[in-house]
Amino acid sequence: METNIPNRDFTQNACKLCAPLGACLAYKGVKGAIPFLHGSQGCATYIRRYLISHFREPLDIAASNFSEASTIFGGGEALKTGLLNIVRQYSPEMIGVASTCLSETIGEDVPLALRELRISKGITGLPSMPFASTPSYAGTHADGFQAAVLSMVKTIAGADKPESIEQPVVNILPGMLSTADLRHLREISEDFGLKPVILPDYSETLDGGPWAEYQKLPSGGTSVEEIKCMGASVMSVEFGKVSTSGLSAAEYLEKEFHVTARKMERPIGVKATDLFMNELSHASGKPVPEKYEKERARLIDSYVDGHKYVAGKTAAVFGEADMVTAICGFLSEIGITPVIAASGDMSSRFVAAMKEAVSDFDEKDIRIIDSADFRDIEEAVEELSPDILIGSSKGFAMSRKTGVPLLRAGMPIHDRMGGARILQIGYRGTQAFFDSICNTLIENMQEESEIGYTYI
Ligand code: SF4
Repeated sequence: METNIPNRDFTQNACKLCAPLGACLAYKGVKGAIPFLHGSQGCATYIRRYLISHFREPLDIAASNFSEASTIFGGGEALKTGLLNIVRQYSPEMIGVASTCLSETIGEDVPLALRELRISKGITGLPSMPFASTPSYAGTHADGFQAAVLSMVKTIAGADKPESIEQPVVNILPGMLSTADLRHLREISEDFGLKPVILPDYSETLDGGPWAEYQKLPSGGTSVEEIKCMGASVMSVEFGKVSTSGLSAAEYLEKEFHVTARKMERPIGVKATDLFMNELSHASGKPVPEKYEKERARLIDSYVDGHKYVAGKTAAVFGEADMVTAICGFLSEIGITPVIAASGDMSSRFVAAMKEAVSDFDEKDIRIIDSADFRDIEEAVEELSPDILIGSSKGFAMSRKTGVPLLRAGMPIHDRMGGARILQIGYRGTQAFFDSICNTLIENMQEESEIGYTYI
């Protein structure tokens, strides 16, 4: 294993997106919620553009719209005015507030402004307003996402018991999964007889049907009522072990409300999915449903059928550290060595999580690139010549230049349809992922072959 923390005094093309973008995505997973950025209009526009191009859905993000005067004298009043405008125009159930580079740099005290707004004379009936501090120069979109999830739990969750619900309730804190993954998580949990509170759940708000008329607040999402009851659940399952600094949302719920926290890699691969199924089996007191036993058996059968395409191959994986770690664990399971694992995150937990996820980690020669710039990744790809790249469509230029095929995963995927609903988790998602990897390698073999095999 070799770690590579780049020592450059410039950034060319960072392997990360902006931190409030992650916070906005998390807030979009709550029913009747609207994200609100304390900063300039340009930040909100950039984030909307990125998210709309990935999800291909309309998406509103409000902003306090910093002016020159706000930048010099403070934007507290602009924040309060903006929030009241949003309450009047949208009647939201929650306004998810996040800071930007600018408001962080001038040291805005957003929690103070929110408190002042609440105690202002004559203002009643304000919605929940969790706040996440998200300076982009100090974190990635994954950090912003986790900060928003934690702030929602801290601001809203209590130990109330859900009314008229008889089955056991589990909290699922999935991290940045696709909309198809979120729907599959609900399906699996309900098949165990559990009531899942998935936070966030943007599977409908960012992947719904067509509208006859524009909806200010799309339907779907975790309700504020559900979040209120998270302290009374039987267990929290949280995917990912890297992208949280300090307490994660599951750890907070355990500390404050004694809800057992189970942190694990996102369930990609047989080993990781078995672990998830076992936790749900434990929480529900029921065995794994036969439907999933059959999916597992089919998956293992396909591993046998496809081993000749993947055995001994190498990969470069890049993106959010939790995604990279889970995919590298899965690749090891199917016989592909992840020779490059790169993330824009900067966390000492990245290497530790990789060691846990990847079998025979110490015997493998994996180059782990922390705080990665695409320039670093490209140099490593040129040196190590992996057989496949796995990551967002931001890797396309590198793929074109080096000739190594790119299998799209994670976010953003701007150059393919369906990038936001790639199913990757559970036995079923792993099956689709495994087939895609095999087919990408087969297609590349065909393209590189002078004969052009049709039967491989
Ligand atoms: S200035 Fe900061 S918060 Fe605004 S878009 Fe750029 S990185 Fe994001």
